[in-house]
Amino acid sequence: MKKRTFLNLLSTAIASPAIASLSAWAEKQKLTNWAGNLTYATDRVHEASSVDDVRSFITAHEKVKALGTRHCFNSIADSRYDFVSVKPMHEVVALDPQTRTVTIEAGITYGQLGPYLDGKGFALHNLASLPHISVAGACTTATHGSGEKNGNLATSVSALEMITAGGDLVKLSRSSGGGFFHGAVVGLGALGVITRMTLDVEPTYSVRQYVYTDLPLEEMKNHFDKIQASGYSVSLFTDWRKQRINELWIKSRVGGGNEFTASPEFFGAKLATHNLHPIEDLSAENCTEQMGVPGPWYDRLPHFRMGFTPSAGKELQSEYFVPRRHAVEAILAIERLHEQVSPHLLISEIRTIAADDLWMSPCHNQDSVTIHFTWKQDWPAVRRLLPIIEKELSPFEFRPHWGKLFTVSPEVLRSRYEKMPDFIRLAQKFDPKGKFRNDFLNRNVFGA
Ligand SMILES: Cc1cc2nc3c(=O)[nH]c(=O)nc-3n(C[C@H](O)[C@H](O)[C@H](O)COP(=O)(O)OP(=O)(O)OC[C@H]3O[C@@H](n4cnc5c(N)ncnc54)[C@H](O)[C@@H]3O)c2cc1C
Repeated sequence: MKKRTFLNLLSTAIASPAIASLSAWAEKQKLTNWAGNLTYATDRVHEASSVDDVRSFITAHEKVKALGTRHCFNSIADSRYDFVSVKPMHEVVALDPQTRTVTIEAGITYGQLGPYLDGKGFALHNLASLPHISVAGACTTATHGSGEKNGNLATSVSALEMITAGGDLVKLSRSSGGGFFHGAVVGLGALGVITRMTLDVEPTYSVRQYVYTDLPLEEMKNHFDKIQASGYSVSLFTDWRKQRINELWIKSRVGGGNEFTASPEFFGAKLATHNLHPIEDLSAENCTEQMGVPGPWYDRLPHFRMGFTPSAGKELQSEYFVPRRHAVEAILAIERLHEQVSPHLLISEIRTIAADDLWMSPCHNQDSVTIHFTWKQDWPAVRRLLPIIEKELSPFEFRPHWGKLFTVSPEVLRSRYEKMPDFIRLAQKFDPKGKFRNDFLNRNVFGA
């Protein structure tokens, strides 16, 4: 049969309903990340139910990648070989009121942990915009919430246990000193498969959440510090249109003498009269309660409720960390790009995060402001825009979020982390043959 005839027959066959539905089925079975913008290069996932199970899997395979709840937008979690997931390992191991710590199995999500801790009278210091993510997957990419005095979620880790490439169980803790711990907490999945973590907890607390609309950009510019200091966790949402911050979310801790008093107007913004979604057109049903109604920390610090779709769903995300001292300048730099940015955007969010001492954290040694973009799911357009945004932010030596989309070159990225060489040495110690490395890590971290 001639090649062309064969191809014609093949395309006719594929177009036939039976084959088409079979290929649609096969397509559906592909393993993707949460947003669906990335199909992983393998769909082989081993769900481990014990530390021994993790160890046997690691020692039996040449290449392994830990997979969490698949919420990263880039290929940091991808593998062409085999995934191991610790999702079935989601128990609380111990809560110690004396040391104020909780030890958990690494597959637990914040959504599972929050109500448990609250029920026992304890709380975490902060949460991300959504509770659906695994604690291990979140900490390993330095996932953060907001609050100028709050470090990212990884800063609450006081100890961790992981299985390294050779099958050893390594235990590292903040108190045992040495650099390894500070290098391993934001480990990017490059050092081993985390099986347990110990987190700092504090007595439980309630939070009231207030939303203001239409904060003039000029007011933000002149009063950024006061606005950020107004709550325990503050977020500014903008579509960069009309010289305004569309929504200002203030999360205020109840008690402790630092509570926000909600007046009808705040720096020209108006107090909302009903719950709002950060993306104005979407239903606030998915969002945590606002209007100053007090509620437990785990049901107010995230913007989105467990059991509901967070954010928009069909989207892409990028986020850049800039030193806090450049906050206003950096925000205005993006505002100048509004004609290019806004048509492709669902919403931007601006948050602040306290400095930390974790080697690979984008907040390492610097108080930071983050400028986040929730994009429409149009990668060709976003890929064209990111270099423009990154060029605008480059005078501020930004660091991109490890789990979101960016285009900055590996050389520039590496130069932004003074502890990168130490981190590479640490990875070589725990994983000398690169068992846990994937294309993303090879390109962006190991320079291969
Ligand atoms: C709707 C939405 C909202 C978001 N909001 C925020 C936000 O508010 N703030 C923020 O900072 N980020 C946010 N993110 C990004 C997201 O939280 C992070 O990228 C986080 O890393 C996702 O965790 P995961 O468990 O899904 O990890 P995955 O995407 O599954 O994996 C991420 C990395 O963790 C590693 N990993 C996972 N489990 C283990 C383990 N047991 N041992 C070792 N390594 C492991 C993987 O190998 C990979 O390198 C958001 C994402 C989405 C989709």
